[in-house]
Amino acid sequence: MHPGGVASYTLNSPVNDMRIAFLGLGAIGRPMAARVARLHQLTVWNRTQERAHAFAAEHGAAVSATPRDAAAGAEVVITCLPTSRDVEGLLDGPRGLEAGLTAGTLFLDCTSGDAATTRRIAERLAKRDVTFADAPVSGGTNGAEAGTLTVMVGGDPATFERARPVLEAFGKRIVHMGPLGCGDAMKAVNNTLLGVNILALGESLTALVKAGVNARVAVETLNASSGRSFVSEALVPDRVLNGTWPRTFRLALLDKDVGICLDQLKELGLGAPLLERAGNLLHEAREALGEDADYLEPIRLQERRTGAEIRG
Ligand code: NDP
Repeated sequence: MHPGGVASYTLNSPVNDMRIAFLGLGAIGRPMAARVARLHQLTVWNRTQERAHAFAAEHGAAVSATPRDAAAGAEVVITCLPTSRDVEGLLDGPRGLEAGLTAGTLFLDCTSGDAATTRRIAERLAKRDVTFADAPVSGGTNGAEAGTLTVMVGGDPATFERARPVLEAFGKRIVHMGPLGCGDAMKAVNNTLLGVNILALGESLTALVKAGVNARVAVETLNASSGRSFVSEALVPDRVLNGTWPRTFRLALLDKDVGICLDQLKELGLGAPLLERAGNLLHEAREALGEDADYLEPIRLQERRTGAEIRG
């Protein structure tokens, strides 16, 4: 399959028992690493060490004190940090990842990152004969637990073939998006559309409630009609209508993703007035709600502004 082609694979028989290091046990990294632990010899590292020890006790992994120690002896290194810059920073210094990586290692970055930094990291690691690929994921923390994530891989075809069996530990649909950085590009666009839909649902449903329509009836009708989306079909019923508002993905990270998408569009010299407006609104919501707010909470802001609650 050529690099730009839509080669995708579903879970069949993963290669087991590789030596894998996983760095970044956050909201999504933790359940992803837990699935890796079921199949492989796993070593974990996390900036806040207690989290790594708690994870290891629960899932049977080894813990490394430094990124360097995690990388030493690993056949595959997986990172899942907030930004590509965080991953790049992890390479540096005598205790950093680069000091521990050995020639021939495959390095898969599951961060929702940016293509420019991804290419810079890949170039740096290529000098050590380490192959780097962007492999951001979609499907949320539930998808990570269930092993049903979509993984968007950027890299050459041979790297994709090496990465696929590893990614099958947590991914169901593993797609080769094209050369390095194409996984990042795809993920940023996906999340920008997610953000647009969240904002649109907040504005539309509060308006319907104000107009006298029952919120649940409105959502059910939408979901049997042409205006539906993943936000209306899954997220609003599971989190908004029932008023549970769980925190699984930080709004700050969604805002980061939209920023990456808008930067990409700028680099391409393309105007995108709708996406830019959505980006501004999400950024304002982040500033109003803080760094720990969940990505659906802009809907809550809209509820506050309008005095209409989307419940039912
Ligand atoms: P969290 O904020 O929950 O966790 C971030 C993780 O990165 C933590 O382990 C944190 O360590 C670590 N970390 C943060 N900054 C640094 C740094 N400078 N150096 C080293 N480690 C650092 O994020 P998520 O797990 O939610 O997200 C991780 C990535 O996955 C992001 O790119 C996000 O956009 C993406 N993603 C998230 C999804 C979700 O549903 N949550 C879904 C799909 C993609 P510590 O424990 O010390 O804070």
